[in-house]
Amino acid sequence: MFDYLVVGAGFAGSVLAERLATLHDASVLIIDKRNHIAGNAYDYYDDAGILVHKYGPHIFHTNSEKVFQYLSKFTTWRPYEHRVLTSVDGQLVPMPINANTLNKLYGLNLTCHEVEDYLAKVAEPRDQIRTSEDVVVNRVGRDLYQKFFRNYTRKQWDLDPSELDASVTARVPVRTTRDDRYFTDHFQAMPLHGYTRMFEKMLAHPNIKLMLNTDYAELKDEVQFRNLIFTGPVDEYFDYCYGKLPYRSLHFEHQTHDKPRYQEAAVVNYPNEHPYTRVTEFKYLTGQEHPKTSVVFEHPRAEGDPYYPIPQPQNSELYAKYKALAEALPHVHFVGRLGTYKYYNMDQVVAQALTLAEKLGIQRGSQQTSKVPVRSTIIVGIEEKTDTPKKDSEAA
Ligand code: FAD
Ligand code: UDP
Repeated sequence: MFDYLVVGAGFAGSVLAERLATLHDASVLIIDKRNHIAGNAYDYYDDAGILVHKYGPHIFHTNSEKVFQYLSKFTTWRPYEHRVLTSVDGQLVPMPINANTLNKLYGLNLTCHEVEDYLAKVAEPRDQIRTSEDVVVNRVGRDLYQKFFRNYTRKQWDLDPSELDASVTARVPVRTTRDDRYFTDHFQAMPLHGYTRMFEKMLAHPNIKLMLNTDYAELKDEVQFRNLIFTGPVDEYFDYCYGKLPYRSLHFEHQTHDKPRYQEAAVVNYPNEHPYTRVTEFKYLTGQEHPKTSVVFEHPRAEGDPYYPIPQPQNSELYAKYKALAEALPHVHFVGRLGTYKYYNMDQVVAQALTLAEKLGIQRGSQQTSKVPVRSTIIVGIEEKTDTPKKDSEAA
């Protein structure tokens, strides 16, 4: 009999397994249907010996000291500030849009001070910022919207920005300065030896048993457990009884090239050309030195593993129905990007899992003193502010 069965060994499941075992001395069985830990943050050395991220580029950034300190128990860090170029009108220009982007794109010589006036002239003010189109045209006008956002978004989501919540394109800021970093969070770093090594340390506690290649559906009647933590898709748990929650998927095309550098930046975005959205060269992220280099192309797909919840009002409504079902279940806790159907970054998932671990600890304490079984289903929100959906406060 385990105190907890944890389904999914990504950030949500692994943080909870570690906290429950370490702080509450709980016995934990953690399973994953994949053949590895670390969920979508999984990294490994490819055939050429280059550290790559199987499921696309994962760059760690957070404003939460609590999250950063917690993960620092399991890894040392390599300072890393992420920079992205985007291919527009035959040039590679910095993304997010900033003073240098405008000057290079239009052959201007604007000072940072003049950029605000320039943007005010080209912007198409909207009374209400409801959609991903509103948020961009309201800030930078139609030409920049069409060059940088419209087609990338259509490719990534198979939806026009006017059909997606504002929060999606609002993740990418617009700057009047020359700051060309993708993120401005206080903590920006990569785990020195990779994510998988960090997860191995997290799960190394003697109270934690790990089973890979194991789907919850196969195992649920075979083991005994008092509580369940579920980090897979919430609609799958309920057999899609209200219909499927939509997710967007990707195909990752990995390549290795026989030269030390492939492209000019860690990530190059292709809004208007090619079927893929972006190309990532991993050596920029990891700092690895190697005579060859490995890259990944991201091809958006309708079918495949569920990577992105799709932020639209009708999907939030459908999720609310599943959430109500979840809240009526005793001893089952839904957490993570799929468990709570939220477009969360890694640090937001860690914060969410830490919050749930604290709540479960309080309940376990009261259970031990009162000897009354606790019936609890919690879908947690983020209590500590980590990162708004925007990448920084200057978001469009
Ligand atoms: P996951 O990592 O998806 O883990 C869930 C696990 O549950 C999976 O391993 C899955 O196999 C398992 N599972 C599901 N159902 C079952 C079942 N029935 N039985 C057994 N196991 C099951 N975040 C950032 O902060 N920075 C980035 O740069 C960044 N880049 C990203 C790039 C891409 C392409 C994607 C898709 C995401 C990116 N993210 C990034 C987001 C990040 O991946 C997530 O925030 C984080 O991995 C979510 O962790 P999780 O534990 O909730 O989910
Ligand atoms: N986006 C865009 N053009 C870009 C980069 C991003 O239109 O060059 C939009 C697109 O809709 C994307 C969203 O902004 O899905 C969020 O971008 P982000 O880089 O945060 O995506 P993620 O890393 O989560 O895939």
